[in-house]
Amino acid sequence: MDFTQFPRRRYLNGPTPIEAMPELSRTLGGKVNLYVKRDDLLPGAAGGNKTRKLEFCIADALEKGADTIITCGAVQSNHCRLTASWSAKEGLDCHLVLEERVAGSYKKEASGNNFLFELLGVKGIKVVSGGSDMMGEMADKAEELSALGKTPYIIPGGASNATGALGYAACAEETMAQLNARGLSIEHIVVPSGSAGTHAGMVTGLSGVNANIPVSGVNVSRPRDVQEEIVYTLARELAAKLGLKTGVDRKDVVCFDRYVGPGYSIPTDAMVEAVKLFARTEAILLDPVYSGKAAAGLIDLIRQGHFPEGSNVLFLHTGGSPALFAYLDTFR
Ligand SMILES: *Cc1c(COP(=O)(O)O)cnc(C)c1O
Repeated sequence: MDFTQFPRRRYLNGPTPIEAMPELSRTLGGKVNLYVKRDDLLPGAAGGNKTRKLEFCIADALEKGADTIITCGAVQSNHCRLTASWSAKEGLDCHLVLEERVAGSYKKEASGNNFLFELLGVKGIKVVSGGSDMMGEMADKAEELSALGKTPYIIPGGASNATGALGYAACAEETMAQLNARGLSIEHIVVPSGSAGTHAGMVTGLSGVNANIPVSGVNVSRPRDVQEEIVYTLARELAAKLGLKTGVDRKDVVCFDRYVGPGYSIPTDAMVEAVKLFARTEAILLDPVYSGKAAAGLIDLIRQGHFPEGSNVLFLHTGGSPALFAYLDTFR
């Protein structure tokens, strides 16, 4: 894969670590050997997966002469926090449109990522109700800022267009290089599947380096068939953008929707158990909305015997721990 065809900023200090999780593996019965790719340790205030995508999206914005970034997300969005973070570093203004997906969930004084938006100096926050046309809302904001003489650039929710997903195709290549360098064979990769750029990027990138490692996406909101179509559509677009000779097979896109619970960002008992287990065995902080539910899926799949005994399974930790501080009552 040739990433030099695209504008890119350099936000990484090198590959993120791949660590064994022996205590967690033992606690879960020792049937599989768990590893974790620590994308929670990526640079950008408090880390997380959006940094890889923003290397490409913000580079594109700068190339187009933007001085202002507009993006959107949920009220505790890690993507909004990291977009605010890299905008600050690049000297760009940042405006957020927040979708109140759970009615009444936006609180101006809330902790977690919400507090960090303010601390990182975002220039404006507009809160809209759940189900709003987010692209339309951001376009309105862009028009408003253009009239004031600004040059805005819109990054879609989660930076999950083909440009942002390049970051996770690059992560797939990075991961394979690490596994090859240490002679570690991985039989299965588990990732959270939200706005889909991470999942689509990993599947496409692994195909692009001919790694035959199956990827399971754990949904955080949508039903299985809907999410698989979203991931597959983005993966095909990304494969075309990269000019891959072999595209992505529909059957390589696999999602599980059993761990969503009542809905996006709503806590489940399995999420709480997963967050506590990771913290108490490996001292790794997950989050309540994405990595916690994905880890709940990972743990359940292990208990169900989904992975053959003795398998090496890699969990992609996408970050998000600041959101824990907006959910204290859930864990106490
Ligand atoms: C955005 C996010 C995800 C999901 O990644 P997508 O590319 O949107 O599917 C997972 N974990 C965390 C912590 C996130 O912020």
